[in-house]
Amino acid sequence: MRCEVCWEAEATHKCRLCGRSVCPAHLDAARGICSFCAEALCQVCGEQLSITHCAVCGRLVCLDCGVQVDTVLHVCRPCYTSLGGRSGVLARLRDAGKPPRMPGIREFVEKILETRKGSGGE
Ligand SMILES: [Zn+2]
Ligand SMILES: [Zn+2]
Ligand SMILES: [Zn+2]
Ligand SMILES: [Zn+2]
Repeated sequence: MRCEVCWEAEATHKCRLCGRSVCPAHLDAARGICSFCAEALCQVCGEQLSITHCAVCGRLVCLDCGVQVDTVLHVCRPCYTSLGGRSGVLARLRDAGKPPRMPGIREFVEKILETRKGSGGE
């Protein structure tokens, strides 16, 4: 079984979040997860995979650490609390113009696509 990140080294571990088999170089040994998941992990709790990013600070947040303030907008709990709830968050976002762009998820997806592309052999 080859590592599903680099497709070169022998996989020695399985990511506990996504189930990919990975080599030691692509394993976050402390957390038992692959390098893909390590990058996509919620930046608030560091425990679960993020589902979106905070519209205020841009951190990746998981289902538990994010609060939905709009049909498309989520913020992290720390921002939600510090801005005084939903109305405070929306006022802040209005002032700021637009939410910050967070490349995390996009890069994550692109990396997966790249890996898939590269796995067919040149
Ligand atoms: Zn690897
Ligand atoms: Zn993983
Ligand atoms: Zn979280
Ligand atoms: Zn935030």
